[in-house]
Amino acid sequence: MQALTDKVPLVLDGELVEASTGARFDTVNPADGTTLASVAEASVDDVDRAVRSAQAAAKKWQRMRPSQRARLLTRYAGLIEHHGEELALLQTRDMGKPIRESRGIDLPVMVETLEYFAGMVTKIEGRTTPAPGRFLNYTVREPIGAVGAITPWNFPAVQAVWKIAPALAMGNAIVLKPAQLAPLVPVALGELALEAGLPPGLVNVLPGRGSVAGNALVEHPGIGKVTFTGSTEIGQQIGRSAADRLITASLELGGKSALVAFGDSSPETVASVVFQAMYSNQGETCTAPSRLLVERPIYDEVIARVVDKVKAAKVGDPEDPTTEIGPLVDAAARASVHSYVTSGVAEGARLAAGDASDPDQSRSGFYYPPAVFSDVTASMRIAREEIFGPVLSVLPFEGEDQAVELANDTIYGLAAGVFTRDVGRALRFAQTLDAGNIWVNSWGVLNPASPYSGFRFSGHGSDLGQAAVDSFTKEKSVWVRLD
Ligand code: NAD
Repeated sequence: MQALTDKVPLVLDGELVEASTGARFDTVNPADGTTLASVAEASVDDVDRAVRSAQAAAKKWQRMRPSQRARLLTRYAGLIEHHGEELALLQTRDMGKPIRESRGIDLPVMVETLEYFAGMVTKIEGRTTPAPGRFLNYTVREPIGAVGAITPWNFPAVQAVWKIAPALAMGNAIVLKPAQLAPLVPVALGELALEAGLPPGLVNVLPGRGSVAGNALVEHPGIGKVTFTGSTEIGQQIGRSAADRLITASLELGGKSALVAFGDSSPETVASVVFQAMYSNQGETCTAPSRLLVERPIYDEVIARVVDKVKAAKVGDPEDPTTEIGPLVDAAARASVHSYVTSGVAEGARLAAGDASDPDQSRSGFYYPPAVFSDVTASMRIAREEIFGPVLSVLPFEGEDQAVELANDTIYGLAAGVFTRDVGRALRFAQTLDAGNIWVNSWGVLNPASPYSGFRFSGHGSDLGQAAVDSFTKEKSVWVRLD
């Protein structure tokens, strides 16, 4: 695979090519700051070519028997599994995620998602409605054609597959613009699509700048739908642009999710789940439970246990299978996380674990010490803004009413959760928490059969589960006069 070399191409119209301008950019290993590869940087012309090739490929794809399409997607999943070790390592080198997560989480999620959607290809059905008089009315689900997908760097492999799999399963072709900070696995996925025998142009992967290739993709008249995962700010821009052209956009955006722990829950269980969910992927996770709300009776004990785990965590080389926390993605991310830590200290929160002094710039790699803030209040920046790093804010509460008020006191609505042994309370919280993904006595469980979407400033529209049928097809209503 070319994605494994130091000179990485675009995947365009079934070929591995240079950008039309010849431009390239470097992608860097965040563990040591060295250049990993030089990557072709897609131009506006490349986007235009890719969209045209996707339109043609979609027509070819739709003419194939559903069973044949399902078989090809299953073969694609098999190839990804076969190359799993290379892909896991490539992802870890490109963006710093510990290898045990790339291997143990991202890889199985990619394979499972493709297999799930391969199974769906043969099960897309229309409806027959109770039509009045002498009429027959039925609906058909038709593919959209060329789908534009734009993905972030924090789950580069999974996010790419979460777009490619449902788009292709519903009979579409895709042009994917991955994040500049982690383009390598997406390019590898484009290459493996060709190796699996998918028609040329069905999966185009164009690394490049958001403001150039990303923008050109969203604005291209040949794109029938946009699916975007990334920050709220860029999601809003993309949503506006899609609205101007009256195409649909699914937007999976940022979050500031609350995990509510009641006094009847086990402090050790809460601390373990929070440690795992908050600090995996260095906290660069959209659904990280970055606000931990703890009922007074167990507040001190939960904090002490989380702090113990954070202090004992192994921070270091992400390629070491025992590493729990790797480097942040780049120097800008490290500076941004550090500005939140200094702001938390300045606003009077207590830094129970971590280090508020300037990160050691001389150390190679963009490492940042994981932090826990206690005594946080709801108005502090560290309680309101997405930090996107290993920084937890812990707030105390007393009673259900205050817990609900605090949990929903955010512009975001991506995820929320509750820990309690009281079934009635768990179900009441599942109803009143205003977020698209709710976890009870757990956190972060996902499955391709289940929808995944945010509320409010976390976006809208799910690309997973049965919802993908709505998201990636158009429903046509056909009326037939019977006399
Ligand atoms: P980002 O918004 O900066 O970039 C995301 C993608 O958009 C990149 O590919 C980028 O190149 C592209 N882009 C930038 N400007 C563009 C423009 N003007 N037009 C078109 N495309 C453009 O986000 P990021 O820093 O890569 O990722 C982190 C963010 O993603 C966080 O806010 C995180 O919460 C969010 N995220 C959300 C989910 C979810 O499922 N809700 C999952 C992962 C990440």
